[in-house]
Amino acid sequence: MTTTVSSTRSFIRRWRSVVAMLALSVLMIHCSDDGISSFNLFTDQDDVKLGKEVDQEIRNNPQEYPILGRSDVKAFVKNVGDQVLNSDEVKKRGVYAYEYEIINDDNTVNAFCTPGGYIYVYTGLLKFVDNEATLAGVLAHEIAHAERRHATQRMTKAYGVQVLLSLALGENPSIIEQMVAEIGSSLGMLANSRSDESEADEYSFKYLQDTQYYPGAIKYFFEKIVAQQGSSSDILTDLLSTHPNPGERIADVDAMLQENNTPAPTEGTIFTTRYKNFQATLP
Ligand SMILES: [Zn+2]
Repeated sequence: MTTTVSSTRSFIRRWRSVVAMLALSVLMIHCSDDGISSFNLFTDQDDVKLGKEVDQEIRNNPQEYPILGRSDVKAFVKNVGDQVLNSDEVKKRGVYAYEYEIINDDNTVNAFCTPGGYIYVYTGLLKFVDNEATLAGVLAHEIAHAERRHATQRMTKAYGVQVLLSLALGENPSIIEQMVAEIGSSLGMLANSRSDESEADEYSFKYLQDTQYYPGAIKYFFEKIVAQQGSSSDILTDLLSTHPNPGERIADVDAMLQENNTPAPTEGTIFTTRYKNFQATLP
């Protein structure tokens, strides 16, 4: 009797370690196929669910995120963003929410996007950029964070093995749902890694190639940051603390412009006048 129990136990123990090895190797294979992790434990629906939770948090916190109640401003930003979404390189249109909101805060030069495509743009950014193509470039960068699923990929890397083991052993089939619920309300997960930022810049270029906009336009944003870094840097502190060195990002965009033999920008690809007219309507 005792022998049977102990051999059954040792069988289970061995079986578990086999399952664990399998789970680990599955994760490693998926993580190494293109040098960067492309494996994601979450579904697109999980991304949207997470985004919706963050969106709710933001709307419940007008102190920190005062929404600008101006449908004309939102419509302008939506028009620019939707042109980016029309790129063939964008794969999740119709899957992700891709909604826009404007935060009325002139002291923050930034924009962000939740998993599943809820995009927020600060009035500080709308006033900071000098032409429509740059706004398109920044929106494209934010859309890329959602499209490339940077947040849930990071979560997969952080919790992946643990979750896979738990699923493989049938210990906790609802663990992903629990994680979505727990992490969903934390805005901290929106902080992207350096490589996520570089990838988002690269995709910003790719998306804009399919639009009327100059594909390298995001570099105007970085160039202005570099120019203002010394002087009015307080409004850029947040941005600079969460993003890689703008100098390197300019060099990366220049390399893409050269590789693609991109024609020089003109008013017909950057739209300065149209943008200045829009800026004049901002509060
Ligand atoms: Zn970013």
